[in-house]
Parts: sequence; C-alpha cells; structure tokens
Amino acid sequence: MKFGCHVSIAGKIYLAVEQALIRGCETMQIFSGNPRGWKHSKDLDRDIYEFNSRRKKAGIEPLVIHMPYLVNLGSPDANIYSKSVKATLDSIERAKKLNASYLVFHPGSHKGVGREKGLMRVAESLKSLISEIDGELKILLENTAGSGHNLGAKFEEFVFILKEVGWSEKLGICLDTCHAFAAGYDISTKDGLNDTLREFDKKLGIDRLFLIHANDSRMLLGSRVDRHAGIGKGYIGLEGFKRIVNHPMLKDLPCILETPHESKDDDIQNLNLIRSLREES
Ligand SMILES: [Zn+2]
Ligand SMILES: [Zn+2]
Repeated sequence: MKFGCHVSIAGKIYLAVEQALIRGCETMQIFSGNPRGWKHSKDLDRDIYEFNSRRKKAGIEPLVIHMPYLVNLGSPDANIYSKSVKATLDSIERAKKLNASYLVFHPGSHKGVGREKGLMRVAESLKSLISEIDGELKILLENTAGSGHNLGAKFEEFVFILKEVGWSEKLGICLDTCHAFAAGYDISTKDGLNDTLREFDKKLGIDRLFLIHANDSRMLLGSRVDRHAGIGKGYIGLEGFKRIVNHPMLKDLPCILETPHESKDDDIQNLNLIRSLREES
C-alpha cells in the first residue's frame, strides 16, 4: 500500500507538491477548487506545468483530486444541479491538465425527495459526464457515513448507480474507512473487515475499488456521523488499521489520509504511524 494525504493548494498549486514531500507522501490528494465554494481557481498554464514537472520529479503517484463539498449531483434543485454538473466538468478539465488518475466525489444528497430519485439523478448526470473523460482518468464515488439525506452509505446504492451507467469502466469506488464504520460496516474487527470486503466484492467486484481513504472514526459503529480521528485514535483502532493495510484485497491500493491536523506534524505523525503497520510481504 502506498500512503499519502490530502494537501492544501493554497497559494500556487505547484506548492502542494512541496507540502506532499515534506509529509513523506508517496501519493497525494488535492481539492479541485475552493472546497466550500463554486468558483474554480484558474491556474496559469505555467503553474500547471510547474506542478506536473515537480510531481513527476518527486515520483508522487497517483494524484487524486477531490471535488468541492457543495457539488450535489443528486440534488432535486435545478439550479444546484446545473451548478454541480458545471463544477464537475471544470474538475474533469483540471484533472486532465494535472494528469490525475482519480477524481473523487460524494454522491450527494436527495434533500428529502427519496433515495431512488436522488440516485437516479446522480446516474443521469454521470452518463453525460463520463463522455468527457478519456485516458487513464476515472471518477470515483466515495462511500459516505449516510447522515440525513446523504446518498452512498450502502454498497447497494453504488450498485444502483453503476447499473444505470452500464457499469462504465470510467467509474470506480473510493472506500473511506471512517464513513464505512459510521455507516455500519464493522471494519474494526477481523471478521467484520472480511465480511465487508466479501460483500463489496460480491456486489460491486473488488476490481471497482481503486482508492482507500484511511481515517479513524470518532463516532460509534453505525452512528451515521462523519467525524474523522487520527489513525489509532478512534473506534477502528491500530489493530483495525493493521488488518486494513495488510489485507490481501486492499494492500496494493493507494491510501490517502484525511485525518485532523493542526499542523503538518500531525500529518507526518499519522503517515508514519500507518506506514509502520505495513508488513513486508
Ligand atoms: Zn474521504
Ligand atoms: Zn468524512
């Protein structure tokens, strides 16, 4: 398993590579724009060039891009929906320019109109969006804790979306450990982890899984509340993460940490800790 973390793109985008290197990242994740806004930061061509050449030199691979939180492709509101489609298109463009491998997004919220209607809307948007994708880039749907009207807490919901989109090879899944645990998948125990992965494989196929978000959970199993904790500081625990990073179905995947941090030292500490759990095979 390759480890990295989410790094800020504040300032010039190419400085993110520096931030990743300082933390000892082998892979990295950045936001495609302001995470809490709709506006996309416009990068200068030379900044993109700098980013690409610095990342290549650093050997940081793969690059993961996370979409802003406001994007809701499941929204029943026409205005939010069209803004979301536009923001996704912008993110796809940026991902291509940055030679990203994966563009991650949360399936969104149905805002009370019903799960199936929301999932259908996500699927409809993806049908047209994936035609904009070429090369190696994939869109990854991230599982959620399932609070409120949020979509994507259960594997069946991804089955629904993927079926509608004809099991396109341009789509895959990102599994967030904190979200899975909060949604009721007990990946903290040996049996629970095996059962969860077996269920994933049966319903979606383990080859649909391209990325792990490794976050411990501050909230209890099935709480449906998304609160990340540092590795080993939550209910999944160090033993849990040791089994996750060494599991035969997961150990060759890239792994991104989105753990709470006050400074870069927290990221470094979490990365060192999770890396120390990796067993030589
Ligand atoms: Zn995540
Ligand atoms: Zn989260």
